[in-house]
Amino acid sequence: MHTAIIIGSGFSGIAMAIRMKSLGLEDFIILEKSNDVGGTWRDNTYPGAECDIPSALYSYSFEPYLKWEYKWSHQDQILEYIRHCATKYEIYPHIHFGQEMKCAHWDETKSSWMVTTGQGKQYETRSFISAIGQLHFPSVPEFKGEEQFEGAQFHSAEWDHEVQLSNKRVGVIGNAASAVQFIPEIAKTAAHVTIFQRSANWMLPKQDRLYKAWEKKLVRAFPFLLKIYRLRLWLLGGVVFFLMKKGNGLLRSIAEKISIRYINRVIKDTELRKKLIPNYPIGAKRILFSDNYYHALNRSNVRLVTNSIDRINSDSITDVRGELHELDVIIYATGFKTNPFLMGREIIGINGVSIHETWKDGPKNYLGMTVAGFPNFFMMYGPNTNLGHNSILIMSEAQAKYIADCIQKMKDQSWKSLVIKNSAFETYNQEIQERLQNSIWAQIEKSWYKSASGHIPNNWPGRTMEYLRRTKKVDFSAYQVS
Ligand code: NAP
Repeated sequence: MHTAIIIGSGFSGIAMAIRMKSLGLEDFIILEKSNDVGGTWRDNTYPGAECDIPSALYSYSFEPYLKWEYKWSHQDQILEYIRHCATKYEIYPHIHFGQEMKCAHWDETKSSWMVTTGQGKQYETRSFISAIGQLHFPSVPEFKGEEQFEGAQFHSAEWDHEVQLSNKRVGVIGNAASAVQFIPEIAKTAAHVTIFQRSANWMLPKQDRLYKAWEKKLVRAFPFLLKIYRLRLWLLGGVVFFLMKKGNGLLRSIAEKISIRYINRVIKDTELRKKLIPNYPIGAKRILFSDNYYHALNRSNVRLVTNSIDRINSDSITDVRGELHELDVIIYATGFKTNPFLMGREIIGINGVSIHETWKDGPKNYLGMTVAGFPNFFMMYGPNTNLGHNSILIMSEAQAKYIADCIQKMKDQSWKSLVIKNSAFETYNQEIQERLQNSIWAQIEKSWYKSASGHIPNNWPGRTMEYLRRTKKVDFSAYQVS
């Protein structure tokens, strides 16, 4: 029996593994469905894919990297960083590639989890850690006539690099974080790009640039400077962006003005400008950062369509006004199925109860990591740990530390199981949901942060500072042990 099994080798899974090793907990394995590490940074290979959080902050605090070329790194550089960490911390020997976890059962008599993969392998473990992330399953909405389309169609997270887009008429459905990154790239060679926008999004200029040679030299000579820069970025997120998201009227109005000024500065067509101004308060959905999306909209081969899609035909999309948009390729930049969590995975806890049954009214959790009725089961980037104002890796590191501390304590005390008490679980959830109902995310009718019932299952209501404080030391009195 293993001490722990980690599912997934993206940023969270690798952070978890590194933390386990740092405590001398070597008896763990990682089950990875693919043949490489990297998670979302392995899967999302669309042109222009990059991170909208600066790399000095979107990297592990314990592994500063001197090889970043840009302030905001591209997908391949981030993937390289993850591979670098996996190599440096000797994580590869722990990874079982090509094994996709399908179900896990808690065995009360043995106090262990039996994990089964889609490839038919079974593994027994004392602790079981899901690090599969929130943005994992592409969401492709159903449109009338979709199956009739004769050209290629694919989702941005499953980019088909075999499909040549040069000189093609490309339709893009969606205009959020992923779309604004690849549209400027494909517009350079496509015959025409038609963007189907359902709602406008707030966007701020990214002001990305290559690091200058002297900056790189300076940081090499004085690596602590990178830490100071990271601290500055963290505080900027924790103060300015957080307060804006909390609803600070002054900051919100300043940010909205900057965004509108940006539109007016770049977009020449006054009608187009109007279409780009969102009808919801800034921060209620993810704020987008780009230096080239609005510029792409000025191109003669790019058109923004704001009429809804009525149907898809063999070689076109008809909008609700009856206009036909002829297309060779359709790209769905329509995001991910973020809820239910652990979709397509069967997790069976005490008394044979499934996690999906436990979560039928929303994915409850304790600190985003533990669930009542599921002993020795931990989640990383679980419910209510997503951020809109800072780097998610700060949360991942905090979770890795917390979970590793739980596992070590179990070992030291010879505890066989650890499960969050119902009282702590319910009190925590009530607090988080009450706070979220007063947050900016509640002030919008629909977004991927909000379920149809109004429950906000994804986001953390506070600053990262608060999460770090609450997870720093495990309060074992909140857990039942045996
Ligand atoms: P998303 O934010 O969920 O956006 C989906 C887009 O598709 C929206 O424009 C949405 O319109 C549109 N859409 C969805 N269903 C539709 C339908 N039935 N008809 C018409 N339009 C439809 O997806 P995403 O852009 O892939 O980003 C997902 C998340 O990934 C982000 O929030 C972010 O957390 C992460 N991400 C991060 C980065 C990064 O740089 N760090 C980059 C890419 C993605 P509405 O707005 O009207 O719903």
